[in-house]
Amino acid sequence: MLPSQNSMPPDLMAKYKRQTYLLAFPAGIVLTLLYAFIIAKSGLQFYIAIFMIVELALFMALVKFIPRSISIVDPVFYFSYASYLLIVTQLNLNYALHSGLFAPHMLAESINSLTLWLIVFMVGAYLAMNPNYVRAFFVYIFLVVFIMAVYNIWSLYFSGRLESGLLFRWINPIAGLSLAALLIQRMGALQQKYATTDSLTGLLNRRALYRILEQEMERFVRYGTPFSIILFDMDYFKNVNDTHGHLAGDNALKSLSDLAENTIRRMDSLGRWGGEEFLIVLPGTDSEQARILAGRLCLMVKEHPFGKVQKLTASFGVTTSRPGGSLEDMLHRADHAMYRAKQSGRGKVVADFS
Ligand code: GH3
Ligand code: MG
Ligand code: MG
Repeated sequence: MLPSQNSMPPDLMAKYKRQTYLLAFPAGIVLTLLYAFIIAKSGLQFYIAIFMIVELALFMALVKFIPRSISIVDPVFYFSYASYLLIVTQLNLNYALHSGLFAPHMLAESINSLTLWLIVFMVGAYLAMNPNYVRAFFVYIFLVVFIMAVYNIWSLYFSGRLESGLLFRWINPIAGLSLAALLIQRMGALQQKYATTDSLTGLLNRRALYRILEQEMERFVRYGTPFSIILFDMDYFKNVNDTHGHLAGDNALKSLSDLAENTIRRMDSLGRWGGEEFLIVLPGTDSEQARILAGRLCLMVKEHPFGKVQKLTASFGVTTSRPGGSLEDMLHRADHAMYRAKQSGRGKVVADFS
């Protein structure tokens, strides 16, 4: 049976507590902020590398430069700084080892908490992949706080002594803020994705398409690189909804977007312009190439089996950038060409190169 912490002289104990609070908390917060910053700037892999290097450097420095230092490396290669506490408390090494103050206790504690944080971390990583992420994030933060609280109360209650490691764990660089930083970063990336993606088809939305169009127009004005657009709209789509229901209509739109996505080149951008209307931006593409692509797509739509909806057609309007013309002009020309395709019987391509 190890002697309890109470075997320590009370005045030394008080000093120990005070100094641990005074030093451990600020040190923990500084390290935590540093790690959070690294994660936010450079990502998790970089953080793990830096974390290992810092830990190793601290460990080596303690062993090498501090005469009365002991450090413990546990089976999961996690360094525990008994030495730090020796410095803080100015305890004699022999006294520390024989009183059982740190060594066995910290070993067990660090394994426990590492396992705990590993679980917490894995749950966090899993939740970060969840599409309903914003809600999941708050559930997660609640979970972390709850687990931390339970763990600390449990640990304090049963061990009955000041948990040296615990003070660090509360603000452990692996947990807490750095994890939150990672998740917030992830959330930002997802938000960015949702802001530019159409939820039904997963294609670019109108806003994202508009940005691409503006960029292409700028390139055209500056360097004279032409680009083309294809605007297409499903024919008699209202009938599809009326006959087969809205859900079948939605599925047909998804099926169509997959088909179009697999037909265009990698550098082209396909998006949902609105309703059952789609737009393709073709950088560096002249009118003839654009018309050929539209023709191919038109044929593919006609031949594509749309499940229970069966046959569908679409009408295509094609146009190319023109010197002196604005983006609005171009969109208007594409719209007008598509309208002519509708007027002249649907299921065809009209190019506006006049
Ligand atoms: P047209 O050949 O002249 O284009 O005929 P249309 O019926 O396709 O044209 P209209 O613009 O009158 O109708 C478009 C229809 O597309 C109306 C709307 O219910 C349907 N639609 C638009 N967006 C969606 C959607 O997201 N899901 C489903 N299921 N239907 C949609
Ligand atoms: Mg339509
Ligand atoms: Mg329409």
